[in-house]
Amino acid sequence: MELQHIKDNVYYLRGVINIGVVVGEEKQAILIDSGLGDRSGRRILHALEAAGLRPVAVLNTHCHGDHSGGNAYLVEQAGVKVYAPLYDAVVLRQPVWSTLCLFAGADPINELAIPRFAMRPSPVDVIVAEGELTVAGVTIEAVALPGHTGTHTGYIVSGVFFLGDALCSEQELENAGIPYGYSVTMRLNTLQKLCNYNCDYYLLAHGDLRRDVGDLIEMNRRRVEETLAFIVDYLSRQPAEASDVMAAVCEHFGLQLRKVQGFFLLHPTIYSHLSHLHNRGEIAFKIEGNRLLWYA
Ligand SMILES: [Zn+2]
Repeated sequence: MELQHIKDNVYYLRGVINIGVVVGEEKQAILIDSGLGDRSGRRILHALEAAGLRPVAVLNTHCHGDHSGGNAYLVEQAGVKVYAPLYDAVVLRQPVWSTLCLFAGADPINELAIPRFAMRPSPVDVIVAEGELTVAGVTIEAVALPGHTGTHTGYIVSGVFFLGDALCSEQELENAGIPYGYSVTMRLNTLQKLCNYNCDYYLLAHGDLRRDVGDLIEMNRRRVEETLAFIVDYLSRQPAEASDVMAAVCEHFGLQLRKVQGFFLLHPTIYSHLSHLHNRGEIAFKIEGNRLLWYA
């Protein structure tokens, strides 16, 4: 991992998940996200040491283990302060909320206890709300970008927008078909909101550095609309349970679920589409034969 310069005092560590690095006064470093597990934490510390920087804070975009899994190591080894949005802070402090949410609120199966879902607990020192915050003498704008999680947040520093998982790259859309999401309603509003920004650079957490994300926003929006239209069409032909909708959506996007972890990520994602359509009055449900059937 080597520091890549973006602009002014803003850098990033390029990887499977990109970590933002903002240099503040007296060689203090502010991190945006912390990667997956202790290994990421260790690699981040090495990279900062090599650059003569001392980490003082991690600003998390959201609570997923591949973005916040390095927190615990960085807190223990470097004493960083953790900043996180409200709902995400709950999961950071008590990661069991992540796996039990995936498992329909029940005591989860052991297979879900993978680092991506069940990271080591992290303290949260500051709950981030939309607006400006100052860390190590640097002014950072926190931007609420909910949808991927309930309080997913992006950060803008010196015209560089760290987007976290608010936008999927073309590759992610290709691989995932329908990317994980807590709320389709929030996601569509967030995509609309992103159109209002005119930053110099945008960094996707899983992707590359870009000067412009207009086309990508549109591609993300179209994917959501395509999925919603497919579900409405499917449910107009027959009432179906959520699991049937999920299987039909997988077939539509050519997805083959092979791992139980993938199944339990897709499950709430399908429900987020169903609740969006239901709350807008496009589909309804009935309970019949002890099954909950959705219909259009
Ligand atoms: Zn995520």
